[in-house]
Amino acid sequence: MGDAKDRRYRADVVIVGAGLAGLAAASELLDQNKNVLIIERDLPEHLGGLAKLSFGGVCMVGTPYQKKAGIADSAELAMTDWFRYGEIPESEHWPRRWVEKYVNESDRWIYSYLNGIGVKFLPVVNWPERGMFVRGNSVPRWHIAWGTGYGIIEQVVKHLFSHQNSNKLRIEYGHRVEELIREADGIGCRGALEKDVPDAGASFVATGDALIIAAGGICGGDLSYLRTKWSDAPKRLLNGSHRYADGTVHEAALRFGANLTHLEKQWHYAAGIATKEPIVPHHGLSLVPPRSALWVNAHGDRIGPHPNVGYTDTHYLVQNILKEPGSFSYQVMNYKIAIKELAVSGSEHMTAFRNKSKLGLIKGLLFGNRALLERLKRESDDVFIAGSIDELVASINAVEKEYTMDKAKLTGAIRQFDAEIERGEKYIGDEQLRRMLNHRTYRGDRMRMSWMQKIDDAKAYPLVAFRESILSRKSLGGIQTDLQSRVLDKSGEPIPGLYAAGEAAGYGGGGIHGMRSLEGTFLGGCIITGRVAGNTAGGRQ
Ligand SMILES: Cc1cc2nc3c(=O)[nH]c(=O)nc-3n(C[C@H](O)[C@H](O)[C@H](O)COP(=O)(O)OP(=O)(O)OC[C@H]3O[C@@H](n4cnc5c(N)ncnc54)[C@H](O)[C@@H]3O)c2cc1C
Repeated sequence: MGDAKDRRYRADVVIVGAGLAGLAAASELLDQNKNVLIIERDLPEHLGGLAKLSFGGVCMVGTPYQKKAGIADSAELAMTDWFRYGEIPESEHWPRRWVEKYVNESDRWIYSYLNGIGVKFLPVVNWPERGMFVRGNSVPRWHIAWGTGYGIIEQVVKHLFSHQNSNKLRIEYGHRVEELIREADGIGCRGALEKDVPDAGASFVATGDALIIAAGGICGGDLSYLRTKWSDAPKRLLNGSHRYADGTVHEAALRFGANLTHLEKQWHYAAGIATKEPIVPHHGLSLVPPRSALWVNAHGDRIGPHPNVGYTDTHYLVQNILKEPGSFSYQVMNYKIAIKELAVSGSEHMTAFRNKSKLGLIKGLLFGNRALLERLKRESDDVFIAGSIDELVASINAVEKEYTMDKAKLTGAIRQFDAEIERGEKYIGDEQLRRMLNHRTYRGDRMRMSWMQKIDDAKAYPLVAFRESILSRKSLGGIQTDLQSRVLDKSGEPIPGLYAAGEAAGYGGGGIHGMRSLEGTFLGGCIITGRVAGNTAGGRQ
């Protein structure tokens, strides 16, 4: 029972979390004319959660964009790719059912919704995660939203606030949910007001006929909860997730009887750099690793035996780096490569995309993105720019105090790689170059890659290096749900009135990805599971 002094709220449906999953659920509930209350721990300027910061790449199958580009995709092909890449065994009932639903119904739940609220995509569909030793995407499926994830959230929010039933939506910000409860008048949650809002510390209780958990994942906060689920997490670990992705709601759901699965599986990135402008503890930016760069370890040895190549297999890249001294790495390139290939996975840094500037985008493709490199140099101590290999090594060693970069090793690695390039395209034997040659068969990749560009090339100077740490991003596991987004208990039975969506639910079924993602399945997973949760919690089947 709540305390007499509690703030009390009541709605038809209470949603915990105003990220993409929570907002997608709310949209369905307004369609059903329900009173909706979203309890959100963050401040109004962060409405939309991580999606607002995201790159905005969405995995969809059989879209008009793919058809127009002549890409023959199908639910069967996508399903085969997904099961194989995720290594999801037959015994994983709910994850597999969610994969089937995603690929069979991505048009209905994801594409039609985004298209209907005015989200447009770039005409060139992207092709990440082709796989290293396990085949990934057979065809391009990563649709980049025009305006990035920021643009997606802009349209989602516009749609909600202009909905004919928008007066039935209420959002309480600065409210931290700590427990799930069941009372005489329904299911709900209780908690306290955050320190950065008026009435800080006051307690609250919110109840409804149904409760949807859409509170995100476990890969953020101060990283301490994540470390309890990731036994061999590296000492150097950057945070690319949410300041409130700290497991509080997962633990509350567990105490309430929910089954949590696959929390030991996460999706981290290999090329994180620290930022001097942190918005979360240990904040890092995730570089989209330039493919033409040489990837070396803390001492300057090329990472191998199979070299790391960006855009191939995120899981493999991370595992490879975890085996290296200090579990971090450097990517070494030159200015010409950097301005051509450098990108940051996030709306804040992809300004031409985010601002929907066609001119900016074309200029970037033609002349390179100089501004991004300059900005990263200002914002991070992990960026090194130098006029020679000697100077580069000296500048790295002046900053890196634990591991010494060996000039001879780095020089040797660069010389060997450059010699491969010098032999010419006809004689390519280097695995990185082979992969790149394969990537170049697709126009969407070719236009964003340098080719046969040596590293130590005075015409392409200065040299550029990034010191890269593993960056935590997404929880692949979470609260187990059935195909109606109902939360299941440990015996597999639905807990009456309780639903989960988005990252909180492992993007569906408590872990729709298995061990790898085809990419873009996170935003897509939030939309489909959020809309399904809203539908069912509102009473529709
Ligand atoms: C920089 C970046 C780039 C990305 N790029 C892509 C991409 O291109 N494609 C892709 O598919 N995915 C991408 N992602 C991942 C994707 O953005 C997230 O997986 C997705 O947005 C998660 O949405 P969510 O609604 O489940 O959770 P969140 O966005 O985390 O929202 C959860 C909400 O719940 C609130 N909350 C948490 N705890 C509590 C509590 N105790 N009480 C009350 N409220 C609480 C939080 O404040 C937050 O607002 C990216 C992520 C980042 C950070």
